[in-house]
Amino acid sequence: MRDLYDAIIIGAGAAGLFCAGSAGLAGQRVLVLEHGPEPGRKILISGGGRCNFTNLDVSARNFLSANPHFAKSALAGFTAKDFLALMDAAGIAWHEKTLGQLFCDGSARQIVALLLARLQGAELRTGCGVDSVRHDGVFQVETTQGRFSAANLVIATGGLSIPKLGASDFAYRLARQFGHEVVAPRPALVPLLCDEPWIGALAGVSAPVLARAGKMTFRENLLFTHRGLSGPAVLQASSYLAPEGRLEVDFAPGQNLEEALPAAKRSRAKAGLKAVLGEILPARLAAHLAAPYPGNLADLPDKALRALGAGLHQFAFQPSGTEGFAKAEVTAGGVATSGLNSRDCGSKLVPGLYFIGEAVDVTGWLGGYNFQWAWASGHAAARGLSTRHISEGAAHGE
Ligand SMILES: Cc1cc2nc3c(=O)[nH]c(=O)nc-3n(C[C@H](O)[C@H](O)[C@H](O)COP(=O)(O)OP(=O)(O)OC[C@H]3O[C@@H](n4cnc5c(N)ncnc54)[C@H](O)[C@@H]3O)c2cc1C
Repeated sequence: MRDLYDAIIIGAGAAGLFCAGSAGLAGQRVLVLEHGPEPGRKILISGGGRCNFTNLDVSARNFLSANPHFAKSALAGFTAKDFLALMDAAGIAWHEKTLGQLFCDGSARQIVALLLARLQGAELRTGCGVDSVRHDGVFQVETTQGRFSAANLVIATGGLSIPKLGASDFAYRLARQFGHEVVAPRPALVPLLCDEPWIGALAGVSAPVLARAGKMTFRENLLFTHRGLSGPAVLQASSYLAPEGRLEVDFAPGQNLEEALPAAKRSRAKAGLKAVLGEILPARLAAHLAAPYPGNLADLPDKALRALGAGLHQFAFQPSGTEGFAKAEVTAGGVATSGLNSRDCGSKLVPGLYFIGEAVDVTGWLGGYNFQWAWASGHAAARGLSTRHISEGAAHGE
């Protein structure tokens, strides 16, 4: 049966390409179908063009999921070190930027080239839209380039983020078709919208903060934008923010402004609040916060200074929404992990069906975690595939 592949992988992004490479190396005959014009488009724009391809410190704690344990098995089966071994073997130079985040020295194109070089033997069709999928012993995939059949089907079509790069809800529709549940997708790692005009007036100002959403805190930079808030601290917190939830920001983490501001009044009574705050905060933010308090520190009651200091450690923003999937780096939610085996991301309902990467309800923090999940889940599924055979799928009438 020449036209029967061991596996068809739909989606040639990070997860699909990596899975195809691993499956091919294990001797599987694989076909990858991509509806976009080229593979790995998100990889190319990631990490400002340098791709933050993994993180030195990856654990299930760095991921959101209805089942916080689900990612553990795949992450343990293919680690950041394993990916680094591939980078080193390919001679791709990399560096740690901050917080364990690893980037290419050169360009994200090197990662796509690495993934394509690994494809050995796998067939890749771009510009190939998928019309429908049937399962009658084998998977029959009707596409704009004809019908293809395989014993196994891997869905690697990602989430809803950045529709202009080919994002689609295909994974969710297909999951439902085969009886799987889908955790409602929502934008994550996404800038927040805030209606207050003073925030837009500070656009471009960046400050190191501790941002808190629910129980999670992130100590990184906050950036004021024309429409609200962004920067790594805010993007991280956005993934944990409940709808209509408040973002709490400590503008002076590790300091005690409640004591420091009244103390400054005693040591520098003639200084203005703007100047004192300007030593702690960016000048434009300090000027905004000090505007209601003209005059010298000596003119301000200790009580007001203490309240101002305390307020800067617990500054509450009430976002009116997010910039949505058009700007979200990832999609939280997705194919429910309850229907998947954590060992290989295979369906518990339909043998031979797999879901990997961002399509699954596993969402990483900012910092290389989402790519590590793509590599690890792709690798896990490839291992699952290689334990199944064409004859197994067909003969058992699955
Ligand atoms: C701007 C930006 C920067 C990012 N930077 C980083 C970073 O530095 N580090 C990091 O870890 N993560 C980063 N991410 C997140 C990361 O890119 C994703 O989590 C990762 O690409 C997910 O891989 P995936 O293969 O699951 O999905 P994708 O990479 O989205 O790939 C899915 C593929 O499926 C194709 N597809 C969709 N529907 C269909 C269909 N119906 N038929 C056929 N093909 C289909 C798509 O065209 C796409 O090629 C970034 C995301 C964005 C948007």
